[in-house]
Amino acid sequence: MASQLVDRFGRHHTYLRISVTDRCNLRCLYCMPREHIIWKRREELLTFEEVERVATVAVRLGIRKIRLTGGEPFVRAGIESLILQLKKISGLETLAVTTNALLLKERLSAVRPFIDAFNISLDTFREDRFKELTGRDKLREVLDGIEAVLEAGYENLKINAVVMKGINDDELVDFARFTEKRPVTVRFIEFMPFAGNEWSNGKLVSMATMMEEIGKEYRLESISGEISPISRDFRLVRKSDGRPNRGKIGVIASMSAPFCESCSRLRLTAEGKIMPCLHSPLEFDLREVLRLGGTNDDIADIFFQALEAKPEEHPSADELMAQAGRGMIQIGG
Ligand code: SAM
Ligand code: SF4
Repeated sequence: MASQLVDRFGRHHTYLRISVTDRCNLRCLYCMPREHIIWKRREELLTFEEVERVATVAVRLGIRKIRLTGGEPFVRAGIESLILQLKKISGLETLAVTTNALLLKERLSAVRPFIDAFNISLDTFREDRFKELTGRDKLREVLDGIEAVLEAGYENLKINAVVMKGINDDELVDFARFTEKRPVTVRFIEFMPFAGNEWSNGKLVSMATMMEEIGKEYRLESISGEISPISRDFRLVRKSDGRPNRGKIGVIASMSAPFCESCSRLRLTAEGKIMPCLHSPLEFDLREVLRLGGTNDDIADIFFQALEAKPEEHPSADELMAQAGRGMIQIGG
């Protein structure tokens, strides 16, 4: 069945990212604003029943993939029960989670049967740097979480690394080495501007620079046939002995080479707002509809309103900096 979620520019929407909390057990500098952050009260967040209802309607409308995100999804108490319910929705093809992996080692076995794919965020392999970037001395837990996912048999694990000039761009080759023996795709993500994250153009690292740096040790072979419409992917072959890496790398250049044209995503914030674009302040309130006894058609109507308003592309980085929008943690990446 084709998606009914088509916007004014003919883009079909099949992917819904659901934030389940605005809280987190890390304090990443690029994500969590330093000040003026007002945490949502529990009653402001959608209940699991409300999330499930919205997801069911969304799948009927054509959503095929749902990703749970946050904040950190595993800090929301009882998240396992939501995961189980979402996985039961008929017509949903993929249920994925983006996590910092801190709690994964203990929690993975409970959700292993229901989660099709994980993205894990990791920006450095250095303990001191991890502490500086995230405010917590927890690198070991993240690495253990990654190994736990691999031991559980996932062959499609993606590692998200936000690359920032002068902060962690000297570790690009270390990330490439990480893919030598592991079936992971490391995705280098361009640093994006959000409220309170001290973004500057000078902190961007271009794809060409990344390729040049990694190219000192590896031959990069472009993978033809798109794996993901947002990422340029490469196989790596070690120059010293011609050995191919088991994993891959990818580059997500949201700022320098935006992929708005093929965007198929909608977002649901933890407090029940539909956001048609990560970089636009437009929000459409579903919680009110849900709590005032709205029907499934009323829920669908909010999705259609969001699509009608979805911009063709996101504003430039300078305009984004001038915008007093949400921090990434308050949207759900
Ligand atoms: N806590 C989970 C995690 O860190 O994976 C899920 C939420 S986090 C907001 C989702 C993703 O957004 C992470 O991969 C993170 O690296 C990315 N992200 C956050 N702020 C960003 C920024 N300013 N630029 C690019 N990516 C960012
Ligand atoms: Fe938390 Fe993820 Fe944001 Fe880091 S990127 S502060 S782990 S929500």
